[in-house]
Amino acid sequence: MRIGIDFDNTIAGYDHAFVSLAVDWRIIDVATVKTKTEVREALRAREGGEREWQKLQGRVYGAEMHRASLINGVDAFLNEAHKRGDDVFIVSHKTEFGHFDPDRINLRDAARAWMTALDFFNPNGFSLNLDHVFFHDTREKKIAEITALDLDWFIDDLPEVFATTGFPDTVKKILFTNGADHSEMPYSVRKHWSDIQSLIYP
Ligand SMILES: [Mg+2]
Repeated sequence: MRIGIDFDNTIAGYDHAFVSLAVDWRIIDVATVKTKTEVREALRAREGGEREWQKLQGRVYGAEMHRASLINGVDAFLNEAHKRGDDVFIVSHKTEFGHFDPDRINLRDAARAWMTALDFFNPNGFSLNLDHVFFHDTREKKIAEITALDLDWFIDDLPEVFATTGFPDTVKKILFTNGADHSEMPYSVRKHWSDIQSLIYP
């Protein structure tokens, strides 16, 4: 089986990264703000906050990428896929550089370094093939890659990806989200990776 997975907010979680960096910068109150979305809302609600939010994003996906967390259950899923001999691909819409990063850190290198540190490519770890990781500048190129890879499944946190013209009908789609159930939509919705695992490996 060939399984494709999005990267940001599907494999890599950023709640802790945004909150901890914003606390270090003393721009939010840790007592009330717990998630990336709450950091964004708290900052945008005040004067100059949009700019602060963009600066924070530039750092989190680059120089501060080490603060990102492996989303719960991804490890068990990747171990299961490896055990079964299935091919796992990571296909991500990620530009090479952020717009608001003064350090000009290569965001793709930062993501690969983060995965390497978590033993993604270690034969004794998740044993993914580094050549199975794709970063593309646009959503259209990401979808072209998903099509070319002839995947059985794709897992993403953004419904827009599945709704984009050209997304292959032959790929079974799983939306990873905490949000509302889109039961009328042409994809499965799962809130936890353990549920994604039991859908793919019943
Ligand atoms: Mg994503």
